[in-house]
Amino acid sequence: MESDYEWLIRERSFNPNRQAECESVFSLGNGYLGSRGVLEEMPAGSSQGTYVAGIFDKSEAETVEIVNLPGPVGFRLYADGEPVAIDQMEVTGHERVLDMRQGTLVRKTSYRSEKSGLYEYRSLRAFSVADEHIMLMRVHFIALGADVDILVESSIDGSTLNIRKEMGTEVAHYSVAEADQADGICYLVAKLNDSGRNVAYAANISVGCGDSGEVVDGVVRTSEFADGKLTESVQFKARKETLYTFEKIVSIYTSRDVPREDTRNIRNVAVDALKQSLDTGFDEMLAAHTDVWDESWSAADIVIDGDPGAMKALRFNLYHLMIAGNRSDDQVSIAPKALTSSWYNGHFFWDTELFVLPFFTFTYPGIARNLLMYRYYRLDEARKNARKQNLPGALFPWESAETGEEVTPKTWVNPEGTIIDVHTMEREHHIAGDVAYAVYQYYRATADTGFMLDYGAEIILETARFWAGRVAYNDTSGKYEIKDVIGPNEYQECVDNNAYTNYLARWNLRCGVMLYTEILNGYPDKRKILCEKIGLEQSEINEWQKIADNIEFTVLEDGMIEEFSGYFDKLNVIIEKWNERGMPIFPDAVPLERAHESQLVKQADVVLLLHLFNEDFSHDVKTVNLDYYDHRTTHESSLSPSIYTILCTEAGEVDRAYKYLKYSLYGDLSDNYSNVKHGIHAASLGGVWQAVVFGFAGVRMKRRGDGVAGEILTVNPRLPENWKRLQFNLCWQGFKLEFDISAGGVGILFRSTSDDGGDGAGVTLPIEVRGRRYEIPGNNMTVITYDN
Ligand code: BGC
Repeated sequence: MESDYEWLIRERSFNPNRQAECESVFSLGNGYLGSRGVLEEMPAGSSQGTYVAGIFDKSEAETVEIVNLPGPVGFRLYADGEPVAIDQMEVTGHERVLDMRQGTLVRKTSYRSEKSGLYEYRSLRAFSVADEHIMLMRVHFIALGADVDILVESSIDGSTLNIRKEMGTEVAHYSVAEADQADGICYLVAKLNDSGRNVAYAANISVGCGDSGEVVDGVVRTSEFADGKLTESVQFKARKETLYTFEKIVSIYTSRDVPREDTRNIRNVAVDALKQSLDTGFDEMLAAHTDVWDESWSAADIVIDGDPGAMKALRFNLYHLMIAGNRSDDQVSIAPKALTSSWYNGHFFWDTELFVLPFFTFTYPGIARNLLMYRYYRLDEARKNARKQNLPGALFPWESAETGEEVTPKTWVNPEGTIIDVHTMEREHHIAGDVAYAVYQYYRATADTGFMLDYGAEIILETARFWAGRVAYNDTSGKYEIKDVIGPNEYQECVDNNAYTNYLARWNLRCGVMLYTEILNGYPDKRKILCEKIGLEQSEINEWQKIADNIEFTVLEDGMIEEFSGYFDKLNVIIEKWNERGMPIFPDAVPLERAHESQLVKQADVVLLLHLFNEDFSHDVKTVNLDYYDHRTTHESSLSPSIYTILCTEAGEVDRAYKYLKYSLYGDLSDNYSNVKHGIHAASLGGVWQAVVFGFAGVRMKRRGDGVAGEILTVNPRLPENWKRLQFNLCWQGFKLEFDISAGGVGILFRSTSDDGGDGAGVTLPIEVRGRRYEIPGNNMTVITYDN
């Protein structure tokens, strides 16, 4: 059954020029695997993409990249020899729907064949979230005009390449090691070129007729492996006006997924899993999948009453976040395009920690922990990376993949199509502090002390140590400076004392000191082991304190924070034109390649700092900087508008905030960046969640500040006028909270039974609403009302 309007993203006709864009938008996945929403007959120009988290290879590519694995989707139907395909037959109606509630892609296309009359074609596809190795696909077909000869070709396409048109490259990352069939099951094993790792597929296609799926007489089956493609063909004579149903199930396993003690050949692992699914049956597999989606939505959904369009778009952002997060693997992270394309090579950037992570921390803390563990396991590589730049401690690479080594490519195609040299890996050092910041925010929100003691602390201490080595003492000013960096505003490739970087470094150093003297102090044995492991002594802690207290960072008398030393001396170019969506148009006054000579800013930089450290800066400082940088920020990066949304809400400018929200909210759906064909914008999805929860709902963490250690939540809603009600759930320090916000008040339901099974009797939740502290009792909705 189809879900309601706010759960559905619809395509009403097929436009070959928008094919790649729609494929990204309609991507399916489960965190383990991502599959672009291609039409199953693969019309000309389709770019099928199948990515398994953590499966990288370099081969002839410039740098290691996520592999476009064999495609499991292929399904072609011929009636009386004619391809029943959207680009090859007259189409009388077409609709495709991404049902976000159920995690399915559903299609209905009607055709007219000159030879044999009308055809009805429907399909449904899902990548199971109940069993992440399984693809389910069902096709219904009816010939309305005449009996027809049917030929179905169901394939596993082992000829896929990583194609980068802009760079003119096509890289083969694997070869097909096995492709055959046995007992009605087709299998294909692909072997990755560099690692020799295997990826196995097992597939089966069934055919039934009528509503109850009766056996079809006279079916002839064959299979063939040709041109890298393993195809199972099914032929029979279809009766007029009779419903035929094809069910294709594919199982996919990589050798990474098989525990060492499992000595089965990878092909058998896939074949056994497929057999098990066939025993369970398509309907039950699908029901298990939609049940898990139901559960996931009950944790993550956000309901906006009064703005159905925004709510649907918000769900789209949440849907893509949910299919990006891997529930079971702590060796992978989330790339800027998640698993919807190989753009950015599937590498992991700071996007994960600062933009995407908060959604998981507050919704699925287990996934957030996995994402941070990905970094922890690569701390040794981060140490080596720092050493390569003659620095102590740990510097996470600007772009990271499987091993945690620096894998940033040396060149990049800029929006105008010219190829430019890249220096982020040498200078965009704020990544060290970004990861540390994320670790600490996760700890604040989850109170996961075990994680902090065993893993998080080491990351924070080693990154603090990095900054202590990275600073340079200036004899004249008596300040510690950080020179020659790239800040978030990447128009500027070599600046001194980027305010964002300096402040983050200062925070990282102070956090290191606080960890050592406060948190770890409560666990002397752990502290001893950790300090011995990394060779940390009190004298170093003292040094960190001294550096932090004297790091160059100034809020000027008028409240302004200069983005970096000398920024205000640059050409004062201001944005003067906005497009029809209200977003800045790059000023003519300076060409993009000379943007560094100006005060133009690619993405939130100082403004991001004010968001991340929102407790540290006054309302006035936020407002004055917001106004100044707003006139100079081009928002060329999709990481930017959501952060402006949050700052605008904090400045009390709800209309301006809503304008920015819409830009990120519809970033992918309206293709605001004209590049959604290269995949969805994961950081922006996470930014949207933050904009709604941190911004409009105004839910933030705050140090208790009443002599008791720890954190409380503060709530300070600022809803757009048309939002009558905003409802969402959060995980908070092992508890579950439900929020119900309207113009006149905040309802909070605090489920005082914690995740670890405590019954929570008598436990209350301290929470601050609009500056007043309340103790919320458990298990009843407490409503705090106020006048506007
Ligand atoms: C942004 C970076 C971001 C990267 C990947 C760039 O355009 O400037 O901040 O990490 O894209 O999303």
